Amino acid sequence: MTEPQNHNKRVLIVGGGIAGMQAALDIGGSGYEVVLVDRLPSVGGHMHQLSETFPTLDCAQCIMTPRTVDVGRHEKIKLHTYSEIEEIQGEMGDFRVRIRRKPAYVNWDICTACGACTEKCPTSIQVAFDRDLELPKTMRSGRVRHEGTGKAIYTLSPQAVPKKPVIDADHCTYLQSGKCGLCAKVCPVGAIDYEQGPSWSEERVGTIILATGFELYPLEKLGEYGAGRVADVIDALAMERLLSSSGPTSGVMRRPSDGKEPKEVVWIQCAGSRDPELAMPYCSKICCMYSAKQAMLYKHKVHHGQAYIFYIDIRSAGKRYEEFIQRAMEEDDVLYVRGKVSKVFREGEKVVVWGVDTLTGLPLEVAADMVVISPAMVPSEGTQALAGMLGLKVDEFGWWTEQDGNLAPLETVRPGIFVAGAGSGPKDIPEAVAQGSGAAGKVLSLLARWGGHDDQDAGHDELGR
Ligand SMILES: Cc1cc2nc3c(=O)[nH]c(=O)nc-3n(C[C@H](O)[C@H](O)[C@H](O)COP(=O)(O)OP(=O)(O)OC[C@H]3O[C@@H](n4cnc5c(N)ncnc54)[C@H](O)[C@@H]3O)c2cc1C
Ligand code: SF4
Ligand code: SF4
Repeated sequence: MTEPQNHNKRVLIVGGGIAGMQAALDIGGSGYEVVLVDRLPSVGGHMHQLSETFPTLDCAQCIMTPRTVDVGRHEKIKLHTYSEIEEIQGEMGDFRVRIRRKPAYVNWDICTACGACTEKCPTSIQVAFDRDLELPKTMRSGRVRHEGTGKAIYTLSPQAVPKKPVIDADHCTYLQSGKCGLCAKVCPVGAIDYEQGPSWSEERVGTIILATGFELYPLEKLGEYGAGRVADVIDALAMERLLSSSGPTSGVMRRPSDGKEPKEVVWIQCAGSRDPELAMPYCSKICCMYSAKQAMLYKHKVHHGQAYIFYIDIRSAGKRYEEFIQRAMEEDDVLYVRGKVSKVFREGEKVVVWGVDTLTGLPLEVAADMVVISPAMVPSEGTQALAGMLGLKVDEFGWWTEQDGNLAPLETVRPGIFVAGAGSGPKDIPEAVAQGSGAAGKVLSLLARWGGHDDQDAGHDELGR
């Protein structure tokens, strides 16, 4: 079979989570140019938000930071963060991609990331990266709130790559009412640009990897668990932020409503998963593991606390996963209750959980200090729109459809377009990394058939504002 020599050997990766970063590093490390697009200001995806990882309890930031740093400084990886795909045309070997960058109101080319703007900004905001956790004012000050978040000009985290700030236009006093302007006054290099608008650029690539990841099913849709309106009922990513030493409490275990240490915490698994009548029929695969992890970490912080996990059954199929669950039960005294929770509501200072222990058949009531919901994993917002642009299909829940779930799990129906990571269905980090490397391997084997390296200097056009 002869292959065309003039195919473009640059690669587009959409999504800079752990799967997209792994693919980018493998392809960039082989000497090919990568264009990596993420809608957030920095790369890392959800792993960036995690405290520690099952089953090894490695610190997520510590094992991920070398990867984000490598991605940030790799000469073959071109980052387009705070950006989304607006249009893709063409076919394998010659895709033209139009990318829209949102206004950051900061000129990143000259910003030195000194942080003076964030430090001086007087406007506090809820932090999406911290799942909008609202903590008492006393908890926000001093030791327990790190710099760089919670202000109208912010970076995603102290370890963000790139670590350049963006202004939240909806909350910035200057952009809303023309008052303030403090960040522009303190910026030593004049990087603040309140007039900045969106900008567009065009990239030409020959292959594409879609690594768009997942989101959590919103608490608002889970009426039986309080629909996100009951104080101290939080979702599992919020718990990751509370457990994380880079989180809003610096990892000190506190509940959001009053900052008190929670003495009894209940986890509810399968919230919106395995629920064909009301939500998603599928198993989200990782909740059993991360609930056990969180309960363990909670116990390591609150030694005399009690952790309860309500489960339907435990799914721990992975290397050393079952041993991890046993450790949670035996070493950390996590109390597993087999049963489904029917209602969660507030009663005074407590959050009451009503359920049935299906092993004994007896009703059960726990008056907890905090409840952690483990919601279903769902595809990232915008996956369907991207599929429309690419002429690809998503399944009935919105996950990327593989060409063949058994034998071609990384291919799509279009030649030269691949999927990797949790965008095609729930996955843990090892699987997402393996898929990132797998998709990179698929791309590299195509590039090898297309002939040597080609740096395509003409692969990028600035289209201006
Ligand atoms: C509470 C919780 C705890 C967890 N704990 C663990 C653990 O201990 N161990 C473990 O192995 N796994 C854990 N996981 C799972 C882990 O988070 C995932 O396996 C991993 O994040 C998947 O990586 P990914 O790159 O596929 O997707 P993501 O991390 O979701 O990254 C996707 C990236 O794509 C970007 N993106 C999405 N759509 C677009 C678009 N249209 N345009 C541009 N950019 C886009 C997003 O901004 C994001 O940066 C946990 C998950 C949760 C929810
Ligand atoms: S102008 Fe906006 S971002 Fe800058 S300091 Fe004021 S409120 Fe903060
Ligand atoms: S003060 Fe200026 S240089 Fe420093 S981080 Fe803010 S925008 Fe960048």
